[in-house]
Amino acid sequence: MNGQRCYIELNTDAFAHNLACIRQLAPLSKVMAVIKANAYGHGMMLAARHLDDADEFAVTSTEDAQQLRQNQIDKPLTLLSPMFGESDLKWMSENTVRPVIYDYHQLNSLRSDKSFKSLDVWLKVDTGMGRLGFSMEEIQSVYNSVRQLAGIGSISLMTHLAQADQPNLTANQQQIALFQSIVSEAKNNNQTYSECSILNSAGVVAFSENAMDIIRPGVLLYGVSPQRGLSSQALGLQPVMTFKSSIISVRRMPSGSSIGYSGTYTLDQDSRIAYIACGYGDGYPRHAPNGTTVLVNGFLVPLVGRVSMDMIAVDIGELPVNVGDQAVLWGEGNPVEDVAEASGTIAYELTCKITQRVSRVVIQNT
Ligand SMILES: *Cc1c(COP(=O)(O)O)cnc(C)c1O
Repeated sequence: MNGQRCYIELNTDAFAHNLACIRQLAPLSKVMAVIKANAYGHGMMLAARHLDDADEFAVTSTEDAQQLRQNQIDKPLTLLSPMFGESDLKWMSENTVRPVIYDYHQLNSLRSDKSFKSLDVWLKVDTGMGRLGFSMEEIQSVYNSVRQLAGIGSISLMTHLAQADQPNLTANQQQIALFQSIVSEAKNNNQTYSECSILNSAGVVAFSENAMDIIRPGVLLYGVSPQRGLSSQALGLQPVMTFKSSIISVRRMPSGSSIGYSGTYTLDQDSRIAYIACGYGDGYPRHAPNGTTVLVNGFLVPLVGRVSMDMIAVDIGELPVNVGDQAVLWGEGNPVEDVAEASGTIAYELTCKITQRVSRVVIQNT
């Protein structure tokens, strides 16, 4: 312990390891590494620097793209949901940044902006996600409109699966089949898509036979399983983030003691309670229920009572655990997926929500 309340350890070796696992799943496809939302809370620049083997990166804003370019990251970039400000398209065309064009508002921006030369673009088609994208009926004519514009280079096509984390649902196969029908129809009409892309992390795990030209993994890169009931360990992944703190107090409490705010937990036997310096003010989910696992001094122990702003309590019984011992809230030895599931959310939200006051410790073993 180096005097820090709580901190995240970022194991940068895990990036390359996880990317290699992903490549094994779809060896013939290029990898667009998704590092939006500050690389799901891990740090966008850190991720970009340690994912050197990716073919390109995806972020959501021009600001992110500019930051990457200012920091000498020169791989091609895709902007998944760009908003076009003035001169953004010109900047993109000059900086190998491909925007995703997903509606007519954007198409009009493309049409009225005469400042760019040879801008490569993605078109997005909605095959069932019900979020961004042109409809199946619109996409052919959109292609033709974009093709006719001056200054457009290559055109690529993507769609996004809505339920790939539940691979047994037929909705997945339907979306994939619809996308394939659009691609073959385009071919029949002499429309040329430079690259086609369907799969996010859950899709790569479940439907790698449909990996097409380029896959778009996010959460897998960080060593997190995208699928319920399939552990990151089973996928051979290593967590990049381990959220750590330490024990600041241990108390022996008699049976009948109520623990923490609102008295949501009462001891049914004498026990020892350890208090850990980490709470929702650090990004630990306030909705984590009794029984959520915390790894303390190598033992998985249950959270008891309400999560406070700066503290949580765990029941350590007679385990050899003392003040100053380390606690792993999630990460190595205590998968973030498990904490997320107990708390009724997904790992993505937990890693994104680590707060500003939590220090970051970068470790690299190789
Ligand atoms: C965020 C995102 C991804 C990556 O999703 P994961 O589930 O983290 O793999 C891929 N494609 C699009 C369009 C996205 O918005």
